[in-house]
Amino acid sequence: MRDLTDNRDLTPGEPQVSGHSYRIAITIQVPETVPGSFFTISIGVRVSPEPAGIELLSRYNVALNYAINKILRLNLKKIGEIHNALYRELREWFGLPSRIALDCYRDALANAKAWRNNPKKGKRPKVKKLSMLLHQGSSYRIEDCYVEIIGGIRLKIIGWDRRYDEYENREARLVYREGKMILWISKKVPKPQPYKPRDARAVDINERKIVYGDDKINKDIGTAVDRAYRWKILAENLQRKYSSPRYPAWRRRKAIHNRIRSYHRKARNILEDWARKAPLKMVRLALKLQHAVAREDLTGLINSLRKIKNKDHRTKLIIMGYSRLEKWIDWQAMKHGVPLAIVNPNGTSSECPKCDSKLEENGYRRLKCPRCGFEADRDIIGKLNIRKRALKILGIKVIPGGVLAPLTAPR
Ligand SMILES: [Zn+2]
Repeated sequence: MRDLTDNRDLTPGEPQVSGHSYRIAITIQVPETVPGSFFTISIGVRVSPEPAGIELLSRYNVALNYAINKILRLNLKKIGEIHNALYRELREWFGLPSRIALDCYRDALANAKAWRNNPKKGKRPKVKKLSMLLHQGSSYRIEDCYVEIIGGIRLKIIGWDRRYDEYENREARLVYREGKMILWISKKVPKPQPYKPRDARAVDINERKIVYGDDKINKDIGTAVDRAYRWKILAENLQRKYSSPRYPAWRRRKAIHNRIRSYHRKARNILEDWARKAPLKMVRLALKLQHAVAREDLTGLINSLRKIKNKDHRTKLIIMGYSRLEKWIDWQAMKHGVPLAIVNPNGTSSECPKCDSKLEENGYRRLKCPRCGFEADRDIIGKLNIRKRALKILGIKVIPGGVLAPLTAPR
């Protein structure tokens, strides 16, 4: 393990491109890596949305939908048949550069496959998002401060996360949405070797908050469910108002429809953003202390919530929050080389963390052990039990009081 202070100049201006934070001058510990083991990440490069770029994306989108339709209509499966059926048309009718025409039908095939494999499929898929697959070298390349796209389009780079500059650029996707154009470049990055943890930081997740820490320290982060829920309520109210008989044509009123959609999107974004940032905070702390991260396996809980019929928006948000959170905790731990323990959730909130006896209620949200007298808050008990189980899984023995036991000798 070596330390280095990363104060390379990050392009200023745009605080966020890919969800990575742009804080400069953070101390990064560069971990050892696992030989031959990689993971893929996408780095967002924000570029100026030139009209020529938007025009190519729109043309690609029309071509893509045409190709998806033809693949499904003729039930094409093999890449050779698809090439013969589409390549010339994509080149001549839609004017796509040759390399982009190849990427376009490959993109179309992937969409068609996803639709074929979806048991709940409705009508044929239509891609609305302006997004284009590009190959490093043949379809795009980075030159100085520009992204060059085949066909002579140059997009000025506005900002990007430079932490992964040393890794090779691979396939990319140019996306234009809400006035912003971003090139998402995928990169293969060596997997860090998890260190040997000294202790475990447990993460206890409930509807109201996340509690994390060890046997002494507690930190908590509120969940974003209620914040997201407020936007859902706004969307619903608007929808109800304009679906009354006084507004029979609300669906056709595009402005209102877009506003409702944007409220739903806002709710989703709030939750996504929280589910990505909260784990990063926890994992960074664990890394600093060289601890493992431990979480409960929430699969059972998520499944039982999914079984509820006529779920309200709040339950749906909770399900989404839990599953995203699990995913991001695991991802951040893997990415930072932080050891991870996933523990069985049965009884974590009702067993005594000291002696495993069944706890009894003792006032509001407090529990007490009838056998050893241990008493604590409900949220803290969950965390202590998760830590205890994780230490067992990881084979860590922590001496009570540890090396940090306070000195008793007065000075
Ligand atoms: Zn006890």
